[in-house]
Amino acid sequence: MCAITAAQRGRQVLVLDHANKPGKKILMSGGGRCNFTNMFAEPENYLSNNEHFCKSALSRYTQWDFIALVDKHGVPYHEKTLGQLFCDHKSSDILSILLDECEQAGVEIRLNHGVDRVTKTDTGFQLATNGMILASESLVIATGGLSIPTMGATGFGYDIAQQFGLNVLATRAGLVPFTITDQLKRWCTELSGTAIDCVVSCNGQSFKEAFLFTHRGLSGPAMLQISSYWQAGQEIEINLMPDGSAAEWLEAEKQNRPNTELKTLLSEKFTKKVATLMCQDWFESRALRTYNEPELASISQQLSAWKVVPSGTEGYRTAEVTLGGVDTSELSSKTMESKKVSGLYFVGEVIDVTGWLGGFNFQWAWASGFAAGEFV
Ligand SMILES: Cc1cc2nc3c(=O)[nH]c(=O)nc-3n(C[C@H](O)[C@H](O)[C@H](O)COP(=O)(O)OP(=O)(O)OC[C@H]3O[C@@H](n4cnc5c(N)ncnc54)[C@H](O)[C@@H]3O)c2cc1C
Repeated sequence: MCAITAAQRGRQVLVLDHANKPGKKILMSGGGRCNFTNMFAEPENYLSNNEHFCKSALSRYTQWDFIALVDKHGVPYHEKTLGQLFCDHKSSDILSILLDECEQAGVEIRLNHGVDRVTKTDTGFQLATNGMILASESLVIATGGLSIPTMGATGFGYDIAQQFGLNVLATRAGLVPFTITDQLKRWCTELSGTAIDCVVSCNGQSFKEAFLFTHRGLSGPAMLQISSYWQAGQEIEINLMPDGSAAEWLEAEKQNRPNTELKTLLSEKFTKKVATLMCQDWFESRALRTYNEPELASISQQLSAWKVVPSGTEGYRTAEVTLGGVDTSELSSKTMESKKVSGLYFVGEVIDVTGWLGGFNFQWAWASGFAAGEFV
């Protein structure tokens, strides 16, 4: 996006990528259909040490600008849920748009080109790559984060930032499944593949989405979202009754069908397997009429505020994003240029701006790339 925008302004642009194919993360994104933006993208959907930093770029290249580009290329798409826009066919449709635009604007892309060394010169930068020395006036670092190392992710962007004296905030995996190793592991194994709607909360942030039990722990959109807000050792709270009051539901059922067993009621709400585990580990199953008020209150408390302490996360191996990165206080929010080193720009995931699940990370990549492309 940065290369396209700069080349359209008449700049001579060379893109170097050490990968053998361009846009690998685009290709693997959104389950092969690239969730390329979100209709409701707002600065509130991003995590950063400075919550204001992303505002300028997001407002100057919005989701509607990217949607217009997708429309211009006639790529069909649909809203899956919650404003998330996915390709009807495949992720490569989005990559083709970018490559077409690059070609039209005269961008040169060299693949299999890692960068061995970067030095600052009086007129710009010198790069050592594949046995050659290249010179440029500006240098844009768009090397992404650390997630999915098997796809070529490296810490190169952070290394360059540090080489030039820029502060880099501690990084950690975000939008990542939780691992579970304690007694809850049995639930994960027995319920693997089961999805449940919930509201999950941690550190003052909540998401109403589904979560999924897996052999390794807890995943699904709710868990991926909250993982970005979670710190090691903390508990998350899961409300298994996201659409109403558990207490009112239990009370009403007790009145309506007093002879029904709790386990039967729970298996109607969840699944038989879930109800069985709940009644093995949490509740004694009896006829509803036999529960007194404090007992019902304790059941509803467990259902609406189930506390889980994850053992950890699956880490960068499966994370969709990297939290932290180049400190935004080092960069201009208008241009993405380093305040210390003129001509040095950072865009995309390498910066300490991380979106929620749902197309927000690509929108940040497009918007920050566009912002730099206007000035580079
Ligand atoms: C499995 C998965 C699914 C995802 N799905 C979505 C989704 O549907 N919607 C969404 O919004 N976000 C999604 N994301 C997140 C999104 O892919 C990233 O936030 C986004 O790609 C970041 O863009 P970027 O240009 O900053 O970095 P990247 O897309 O990671 O691109 C970095 C580029 O730099 C190159 N590079 C890295 N190191 C070097 C080096 N040392 N030398 C030369 N080149 C180098 C890489 O080869 C790569 O081409 C997903 C991520 C993953 C892992």
